[in-house]
Amino acid sequence: MLTIALSKGRILDDTLPLLAEAGIVPTENPDKSRKLIIPTSQEDVRLLIVRATDVPTYVEHGAADLGVAGKDVLMEYGGQLYEPLDLRIANCKLMTAGKVGAPEPKGRLRVATKFVNVAKRYYAEQGRQVDIIKLYGSMELAPLVGLADKIIDVVDTGNTLRANGLEPQELIATISSRLIVNKASMKMQHDRIQALVEALRAAVDSRHRG
Ligand code: AMP
Repeated sequence: MLTIALSKGRILDDTLPLLAEAGIVPTENPDKSRKLIIPTSQEDVRLLIVRATDVPTYVEHGAADLGVAGKDVLMEYGGQLYEPLDLRIANCKLMTAGKVGAPEPKGRLRVATKFVNVAKRYYAEQGRQVDIIKLYGSMELAPLVGLADKIIDVVDTGNTLRANGLEPQELIATISSRLIVNKASMKMQHDRIQALVEALRAAVDSRHRG
């Protein structure tokens, strides 16, 4: 059995067409189903539906052989995983943002984010003293109510920032979703996983050709 961990939403919507091109089609629509384990057209391939931030955990521990996770999630997670393919989906940018026109605060910067590890690394590389404030959502609120000077979040169109009087500032990383593979699975089921990686690579390439 090959088990593939996916999260609902953007990643699922963009990954299902790629899997279909590789001959893997879920037997029921994961968006409508309440099932968390979904069989596919291939008897020995199943999908696990998990939270986006949990995908690397399932894969690293071998509860799933493969998964699809945003580079932002992978940067925050760290861990020991193979990342053989950029699926070039769910593209966005990981950025700092602050209130429009606000002066750079003097002294310690307060940064609210769910990407605590990324934030620590980013400011350590700059030698900047910061206080990181961990949030789980609605990061845009933090600068508006004085909880933080800046946020670090993923930005797509920038509409959410603008709607809240914030502006994107520094680019930390460009983000897309990656196929990740458990290290032991890659050894034990090498030919099978390699064939799937190559089928997905062909699907990604054909989309971006011409
Ligand atoms: P935006 O288009 O910049 O207004 O993005 C809306 C919200 O969607 C942002 O605040 C992000 O939290 C989220 N978002 C946008 N793109 C992605 C992505 N590729 N992966 C995860 N979250 C995203």
